[in-house]
Amino acid sequence: MLTFLAGGTGTPKLLDGAARVFDPAATTVVGNTGDDVELGGLLVCPDLDTVLFHGGGVLDRGTWWGIDGDTRETNAELFRIAEAAGLERGPRYLPDDAQTNGREIARWRRFSGVAEFMTIGDRDRAVHVTRTSLLDEGRTLTEVTRTLADAFGLDLDLVPMSDDPVATIVRTDEGEMHFQEYWVARRGDPAVEDVEFRGAESAEPTAETLAALAAPVVVGPSNPVTSIGPMLALPGVREALDATPVVAVSPFVEDRVFSGPAAELMRGVGYEASTAGVAEAYPFADAFVLDEADGTDLDRPVVRTDTRMDGPEDAARVARAVDDALREVA
Ligand code: GDP
Repeated sequence: MLTFLAGGTGTPKLLDGAARVFDPAATTVVGNTGDDVELGGLLVCPDLDTVLFHGGGVLDRGTWWGIDGDTRETNAELFRIAEAAGLERGPRYLPDDAQTNGREIARWRRFSGVAEFMTIGDRDRAVHVTRTSLLDEGRTLTEVTRTLADAFGLDLDLVPMSDDPVATIVRTDEGEMHFQEYWVARRGDPAVEDVEFRGAESAEPTAETLAALAAPVVVGPSNPVTSIGPMLALPGVREALDATPVVAVSPFVEDRVFSGPAAELMRGVGYEASTAGVAEAYPFADAFVLDEADGTDLDRPVVRTDTRMDGPEDAARVARAVDDALREVA
C-alpha cells in the first residue's frame, strides 16, 4: 500500500506516470480540501476534481483543471446576465452570517454565483451539481467522492482529507481573502502576510485518511502551504506522518518553482521559498526527491532526478526516484 498527498497540479502530474511503478489498486490519494469553495450554492473541490478528471482520462492537460474540451455556456451567461443587470462582478464573498449558515461543509468558503469568478465548464459543473446534491441527501464528502470516482472509472482510491470544513484564508496587505479569491481572481497579486486554515482545529481527518497514513506516504511536489498545509493542520496528521516512512518531492529547484504561488506563500508564512524551506516545513519527511540541478544540502537522504514533468514518461521517472527513496527509508 502507498499513499500520496495531493493538491491540484504537482501531485496529479506525478500520478500521470505513477501507475507504471506503483500498483493503482494499492494506491490511495488523499486530496486537499482547503481550496474548496461553494460557488452559487455548488460545492467545488478543485484538487479532488483534478485527480478525478485525470483518473477518468478527461482532464484538460493544458490547465491541469477542468475537463478537456468543455464548453462554458453557463459561465458566460452568468457574466452576460450580471452585466445586463448592472451587478458588480466580484468575487462576491458572502457576508459572515451567510458563511456559517447552511451546509456546514461550506463554512468560510461561500461565494455568490453572480458573474461566477471561477471558470466552471458545463460538464465540470455537472460534477458539482451531483456532489452537492448527494451531500444534501446526507452523504459525506468521502462517500460522494467514492461515488464520483466510480463514475469516472478511477483505478486508485481517492479520499478527501476531511469531511469537515477547512477554509484556506490568506491574510494580505489588502485584507484577508479566501485562497481562490487571492489566486484565481487576484492572480496572487496582494502581498501575503499569513495563511489561516479556518476550521482546522475543530475538523477531523477522515478514518480513511488516517488508515491511508498508516502506509508509506509520498508528499508530491505540491504547494507546501496551501495544498499540504491544510492536511498538516488537522489533528493527528503530523503524528501519523511521524510514525510512517515519508518521501517528499520538492516543488522547487533550489529557489525556483515550476508554477504557481508557492514561493510567495512560503515567504508569507515565514519559510524560505526554496527546497531548504520545504525540508523545514516537512520535519516528518524521511527522504527527498530533488531535481538533478538542485544542489541543496539536506540532513536527510536525497535521490536526484530531472523532476520536471511534462507527461507520463517524466512522471514515471520521478515515480522511480520516489521508489528508490522509499527503499532507503522504509
Ligand atoms: P495547486 O493546488 O494547483 O496549487 O497545486 P499543487 O499544490 O499540487 O502544486 C503546485 C506546485 O506544483 C507548485 O509549487 C509547482 O512548483 C509544482 N509543480 C508544478 N509542475 C511541476 C513539475 O513538473 N515538477 C515538479 N517537481 N513540481 C511541479
